[in-house]
Amino acid sequence: MNPTSYIGRFAPSPTGPLHFGSLVAAVASWLDARAVGGCWLVRMEDLDRPRCESGAADIILHQLEAYSLHWDGEVLLQSQRDDAYAAALDALKSRGAVFPCACTRSQLAAAPHNTEGEIIYPGTCRKGLPAGTVGRAWRCRAPNVYAPFNDRVHGELQQNLAREVGDFVVKRADGLFAYQLAVVVDDAFQNITDIVRGADLLWNTPRQIHVQTLLGLPTPRYAHVPLIINAAGQKLSKQTLAPALPEHARGAVMAQALALLGKTPPVELIGADPAELLAWARAHWHIENVPLRPSIANEVS
Ligand code: GLU
Repeated sequence: MNPTSYIGRFAPSPTGPLHFGSLVAAVASWLDARAVGGCWLVRMEDLDRPRCESGAADIILHQLEAYSLHWDGEVLLQSQRDDAYAAALDALKSRGAVFPCACTRSQLAAAPHNTEGEIIYPGTCRKGLPAGTVGRAWRCRAPNVYAPFNDRVHGELQQNLAREVGDFVVKRADGLFAYQLAVVVDDAFQNITDIVRGADLLWNTPRQIHVQTLLGLPTPRYAHVPLIINAAGQKLSKQTLAPALPEHARGAVMAQALALLGKTPPVELIGADPAELLAWARAHWHIENVPLRPSIANEVS
């Protein structure tokens, strides 16, 4: 591969410090880019202002550096990109691809849920706002077709957006642009060729590909790496009280992250620091070795 033809990215939400699960996603994305001499960018997804924690973005950048996950160029901040998201929403409006929605969360609570636990939008406002209501959010019309997509870890998949997700929010009732729109606009703006991220986002991919198609943007390659779960089977997250990445024994933590990505370091590297482990893993990286199933974090994390 031409060294400049790969641009990857890590896009954390600064809702708190990185935990072991986010480290695994960052390491996978870094290795996949660096193994082919590609660029690796960092984007702070500080879109959801109420959920962001003050100081978390700086902490995350320090954690990445401490684990030798060095990035290229400037860090892009989603909080400074509203004009680009507004322009994309206007483009979707002019194509009739979105509609205003007056539904409240409680009105939608009775709607069926999909396997990811998300509400499948029942189409209430799709043909126009019910009399006496005002639009609060904007939703993108979900096509009723089984659209195939490829994932480098999971292989060929397909999803019918209308049946499995429904019309999805691109601008929220609180006035904030939604992740599904911002991620597409920013991936295109940063010329991202390859997205490697956690498997919790696997079924967001068809929504993002649909928005890319509507906006005439290229579709990157996708790879979703296994989620890291705790002993209770829950995804490591702020909600499940996952601890921040340790500031000691970083080499052992990195070795565990690599093992969960199918790259157990050789015995000679026991006690090595993150930079040495990453240099070894980069030379041996094969995304095909990444397991499909979630892995349980052990005590070191
Ligand atoms: N900001 C998202 C997260 O922290 C990641 C988005 C993405 O990689 O597309 O879960």
